[in-house]
Amino acid sequence: MTIETILPTPDIFSAKRILCIQPHYDDNDIAAAGILKQLQQNGAEIFYLTVTDDLMGVVDDTLSPEAVTETLKRDQFAAGKIIGVKEQYWLGYPDAGKYDYFDVRLDVLKYIRLIQPDFVFTPDPWLTYEGHRDHIQTGLATTEAVMFAGLTKIASSDPEVDSTYRGHDILGVVFYYTREPNTIADITQNWDEKIAAVRCYQAQFEPDDMEMLVMALDMKSRQVTAGAGFEHGEPLKVLHPQALHCGF
Ligand SMILES: [Zn+2]
Repeated sequence: MTIETILPTPDIFSAKRILCIQPHYDDNDIAAAGILKQLQQNGAEIFYLTVTDDLMGVVDDTLSPEAVTETLKRDQFAAGKIIGVKEQYWLGYPDAGKYDYFDVRLDVLKYIRLIQPDFVFTPDPWLTYEGHRDHIQTGLATTEAVMFAGLTKIASSDPEVDSTYRGHDILGVVFYYTREPNTIADITQNWDEKIAAVRCYQAQFEPDDMEMLVMALDMKSRQVTAGAGFEHGEPLKVLHPQALHCGF
């Protein structure tokens, strides 16, 4: 038995400012570029925050870390231009490495207070069979930061941001990479732009691997729409912030 939340599902189409917090440079777009493009067209401002430095997955071993970072950012900006991302931020934690989860939470808290989004996107940290710790830690740190954003006694990593923050409303948290969606976004009309954005992430994919990824995304996007009457979907778990604690 699954007990659903008693709180209403927030309306993502009311979003004005969206902060998407991703473990790696391509996760937001692989998982949610279709709906994000739609929300951007709907008038929302979109901000991306990338938690890790993403140095481990780069296919060209001859590049220095500095050159890799430049390549990664070039990919990310190209994709961001297609989706309409307003601003990109990075935290630089070591990709697949050892870092303090608590520090990530402090940094995410800083960016939530700085950008003051009404909706926050991040990976579902409770995804069954998720083996990548960066994904779990990013989702958990974001969940906690959303819960604690308004509690100004809890410091973020930036006292200056904290000193001017007076609180704001977060209407919803949107988990992507989830097996328990309560929303299947119809992204059929933005499918081509999503795939164009995903194809910008060349630093971490050999051409064959990119084709495999596009094929897998196509299959997954059709799987989740079964019976819904449209072609491509993105599964999302959209929750009221108060549903993030004690099962409400
Ligand atoms: Zn990732």
